[in-house]
Amino acid sequence: MTAMAAIEARRLGTWAPRMLIGGQLVEGSADLEIVDPATGEVFATCGRADRAQAAQAIAAASEAFPAWAARSVEARGECLALLADAIEARADELARLLTQEQGKPAPQAAAEVAGAIGTMRYYAAERLPLIVVRETGTDLIAEQRVPLGVVAAITPWNYPVSLLAGKVAPALLAGNTLVAKPAATTPLTSLLFGEIAAAILPPGVLNIIVDANDLGDLLTSDPAVAKVSFTGSTATGRKVMASGSHTLKRLTLELGGNDAAIVLDDADVDAIAPRLFRAAMINAGQVCMAAKRIYAPRALYDPLCEALAALAKAAVVGPGNRPETEIGPLQNRAQYERVLDLLGSASREGRVIAGGEALPGGGYFIAPTVVRDLAPDARIVAEEQFGPVIPVVAYDDEEEVIRLANASEFGLAASIWTGDHRRGLALAQRITCGTVWVNKHLDLPLDVSFGGAKQSGIGRERGRAGLEEFTQLKLLNIAKQ
Ligand code: ADP
Repeated sequence: MTAMAAIEARRLGTWAPRMLIGGQLVEGSADLEIVDPATGEVFATCGRADRAQAAQAIAAASEAFPAWAARSVEARGECLALLADAIEARADELARLLTQEQGKPAPQAAAEVAGAIGTMRYYAAERLPLIVVRETGTDLIAEQRVPLGVVAAITPWNYPVSLLAGKVAPALLAGNTLVAKPAATTPLTSLLFGEIAAAILPPGVLNIIVDANDLGDLLTSDPAVAKVSFTGSTATGRKVMASGSHTLKRLTLELGGNDAAIVLDDADVDAIAPRLFRAAMINAGQVCMAAKRIYAPRALYDPLCEALAALAKAAVVGPGNRPETEIGPLQNRAQYERVLDLLGSASREGRVIAGGEALPGGGYFIAPTVVRDLAPDARIVAEEQFGPVIPVVAYDDEEEVIRLANASEFGLAASIWTGDHRRGLALAQRITCGTVWVNKHLDLPLDVSFGGAKQSGIGRERGRAGLEEFTQLKLLNIAKQ
């Protein structure tokens, strides 16, 4: 263990992570070792649930549901606002832990925690009023939004805090109870979130369990679970859908993406290059909606490739807890190896003009990489890399680039970069995906919903649509006498 990891381990030693089941903070049935991705060394241990504990968590959520659903939406909103305050009071601690287990640079961790708090406050102020569809002298027809029951919230390792809050907040406001399960490599922030929530929410309303990547199937198949809100890979999303099918579970699936960033011939290369770079490299590229393939017109191809390569060479890569770090490690060994494998193909299929390899040391660091002269169907273009890699592809005309952008099983988001936003708007309407940005990427206002087309997912999160996903519509059709 490095000196730094030893210090961090001692710091964690003052806090014993525990799961939250039925209002109690509980030990696990077995241990799970948590690796610091900046060192590749174990820095903490936490308990994980066996199948019996997972079943207990589902039972606790089922038991808590009727009373929680019976509270007024205002009362639930107040509870959520208190939870947001309590999380905010420990925001620094949560952000430090996030950097430690996830690897991201401290400012990005702080921004993620702040985003989670913002999401909780946004939903705390939302309401679900009865909507009158029609009222006549004889009839009253109204729509009511009712909760679904127990929600399984399954989150991945790239944004463990904000994705958890993005499921917990709307689910609770709508009157559901939850069993949340973080990814096996990033459970600690979810456990701290649960510990804070334990002092505020009634027992059983929110349960947080940890697994070794082995309890997802139990959560998504249990008949007592009404809905699964899942964020993760498309491959695992398919499994969630299959296992939820037996009891017709409601599903929100936020899955993979391979977002195209399309540069038009009137774009200002110097102005957009740093923004494209950030859109691709934030969180070391481990973002479902990062820019993952850049298309540039021939006339701008060389200058854009050169500008991106210069940014990649200048970027400071290092542990997230160092103030100068701009890009942290990959979150886990499996992902690190997957990206290195893709880079092996990329060096054969195109020309690597920055990075292209792992950095020395025990951590999961990969040099920020730019690859050019690629065919549109090269692996590094066609597959979601989920790493600090930018493939740049040349195109000749707009029809071609729209076709290339749309030629993917994914359809999460895309961006268009142009000096004329009206031209961007016209092209944006021809891209098949959930969100198209023009002259920006990764802009996610709290009140704007987000989700995928095609195999990037089902349903929406965030905003009003994200709240409605945790309800079902009930029609009240009344004869006045
Ligand atoms: P990745 O492949 O990028 O590691 P996954 O999509 O497999 O990510 O993981 C996202 C979340 O889904 C994690 O919390 C993981 O434990 C969980 N998970 C894995 N397998 C299943 C499954 N069969 N059903 C439900 N959840 C699962």
